[in-house]
Amino acid sequence: MPDNTNIVEPHGCIVCGKIFNLLIVHSPSGRMVACSVISHGGQLVPDETRPLVTCSRHSTKEVETAVERHYPGREQPEDSED
Ligand SMILES: [Zn+2]
Repeated sequence: MPDNTNIVEPHGCIVCGKIFNLLIVHSPSGRMVACSVISHGGQLVPDETRPLVTCSRHSTKEVETAVERHYPGREQPEDSED
């Protein structure tokens, strides 16, 4: 039985851009199955499709606003730009 793959990736805080290291677990088929913040002072932002991180000092409101700014229209299907 194949094992999951653990990789460490640097991700910037969604609000201020500060870099945190994330441990991301991929299944053998390449799906992200889990992730956690290794660096001190960071916390995960729940998201179904991508690992998002923020400083633990930012408020929920700040984080929501930043996510909407970075990923506008995330409830709609992606537009194809030809
Ligand atoms: Zn931050």
